[in-house]
Amino acid sequence: MCQLAHEGHPGQSMMKRRLRDRCWWPGIDQDAVKVCENCEGCRLVQIPDPPEPMSRRQLPDKPWVDIAIDFLGPMPTGEYVLVVIDYYSRFMELEIMTKITAFETIKRLNRIFRTWGPPRTITLDNAKQFVSTEFEEFCKNNGVHLNHTSPYWPQANGEVERQNRSLLKRMRISHALYDDWKAELHQYLQLYNNTPHSVTGVSPNELLQNRKVRTTTWKRYHLALTWSARRSEKSGKMPNVERGPVKSSLVTPC
Ligand SMILES: [Zn+2]
Repeated sequence: MCQLAHEGHPGQSMMKRRLRDRCWWPGIDQDAVKVCENCEGCRLVQIPDPPEPMSRRQLPDKPWVDIAIDFLGPMPTGEYVLVVIDYYSRFMELEIMTKITAFETIKRLNRIFRTWGPPRTITLDNAKQFVSTEFEEFCKNNGVHLNHTSPYWPQANGEVERQNRSLLKRMRISHALYDDWKAELHQYLQLYNNTPHSVTGVSPNELLQNRKVRTTTWKRYHLALTWSARRSEKSGKMPNVERGPVKSSLVTPC
């Protein structure tokens, strides 16, 4: 079960939150720490978790009102990742792009806006692809106010910067283990959006959509518990999944 919760190499604190969101057993935190410490991928790219921000800017009171966008890369294959974060829910959208142009960025944002609608503001850095009239026109047509980060206050876009560090860590693990980084990226995205956030205490998906979203990982997790409980019923023993005794009733059905 710890291995399932470790899928996507979430790091110690995220893995603990992920486990505790669904179940509990004595020593659950220590077990999570052990799995992280014994994971080859995590050891290869050991980067300390970034500290929580000391103070945060005024946050919106509704989801998908103020979002931040940035680019990550180049990736091992020369591609870039467009990172879109909702300030309220911390919900993240990712788009893999072969080149960073206003045209391509607009295309990807249009895809995202078709699902969530256009936000009120977009905060971004001063990357030159956004200084184009094409992009400004796009924002105007969608009723979006463009919020350029002041170069005198580089931490204003800190939310995205923190996410980027986590993402880069994932990609380094994937590259070091010769894995498919795009598949890993999508797995990380699903894991991130469905794990309680360290600041809000709620998963980004739940804050954005006001419901718990089903995920395949937790479906398998639940199945593993059910099978284990059935086996234990037959043998008359308590269910014992991996290291700790777990009651399946403690787990939220997926
Ligand atoms: Zn790992």
